[in-house]
Amino acid sequence: MNLKEKFRHVLNFPKEGIDFIDITTVLQDKDAFKYAIDSLVGLVKDLDFELIVGPESRGFIFGAPVAYVLNKGLVLVRKKGKLPYKTVSVEYELEYGKDVLEMHIDAIKPGQKVVIIDDLLATGGTTLSNIKLVEKLGGEVVGIAYLVELTYLNGRENLKGYDVRSVVQFE
Ligand code: IMP
Repeated sequence: MNLKEKFRHVLNFPKEGIDFIDITTVLQDKDAFKYAIDSLVGLVKDLDFELIVGPESRGFIFGAPVAYVLNKGLVLVRKKGKLPYKTVSVEYELEYGKDVLEMHIDAIKPGQKVVIIDDLLATGGTTLSNIKLVEKLGGEVVGIAYLVELTYLNGRENLKGYDVRSVVQFE
C-alpha cells in the first residue's frame, strides 16, 4: 500500500502558504485506515511500556486502536475543562495567545513507561506539552509515534533525546 498518496493536500489551509495534510481521506478508506493502524502498531510494538498517551483530538483516533491491539492502557490529554477529575496542566503557546492541556493526576504512576501517539508531527510544540504532562506525573516517555512527520519543519530538533518514530514522511 502506498499510504502516502492516500493523504489529501489542502493548499492554503488554515492560511495562505500552508500545505495542510488532511488525514480524513485515510480514515474513510478502510484499507488505508487498517494499514495506518497496523503500521503504528509495528512502529511501537518492540518498546517496553504500559500506557499510550493520546492527545486530543486526533491522537485519540490513532492512540486508541493501537492501545487495544497491543493490550495497553490509554491516557487522554485534553483541552482545559474537559476532564472531570483533578488534573495536572501545562500552558502552551498558540500562534495568538495560549491554551492549556490537562491530564488526570492519577493517569500515570511514577516510573510508568508511556508511548505518545499523535496523528502528525509539525514543529513538535504539541508533543512537548504532552511530554511535560507525563513527566510532571513522574512518567517516562519511552517513545513517540506519529502517522505523519513533516520533516521540513524539523520537529525532531525540539524533541531531542526522545525516541521519535513516524510511518510516513513529507519532505
Ligand atoms: P506541532 O505542535 O507544530 O507539532 O503541530 C502538531 C499538531 O498540529 C498535530 O496535533 C496536528 O494535529 C496539527 N497539525 C499541524 N499541521 C497539520 C497538517 O498539515 N495536517 C494535519 N494536522 C496538522
